[in-house]
Amino acid sequence: MALYQIPCDGCCDCLPCAAELNIPEIFRIYNRFLRGEETEALEEYHSLAHTADECIRCGRCEKLCHNRIGISAVMFGIPEEME
Ligand code: SF4
Ligand code: SF4
Repeated sequence: MALYQIPCDGCCDCLPCAAELNIPEIFRIYNRFLRGEETEALEEYHSLAHTADECIRCGRCEKLCHNRIGISAVMFGIPEEME
């Protein structure tokens, strides 16, 4: 089990995303994946309208996240693990 979870509380302050990603939903699913619920998380992830690989790294969301999450960097890493 991964020790690190994305510290997203689902506040949605980062929305709307320039690439129409549902950022908190992607992080909720990714945290599920990291907890070892891989099958369920992959099923949820692949049912999303927009997935992490669509992030254009504009950085808009990061200026709005009170938890200072490096959102675009996390989005960049998710496809390697979940696609
Ligand atoms: S950096 Fe990525 S996730 Fe954040 S607003 Fe831009 S496209 Fe969306
Ligand atoms: S602003 Fe940060 S904590 Fe709030 S939903 Fe977006 S990523 Fe999560």
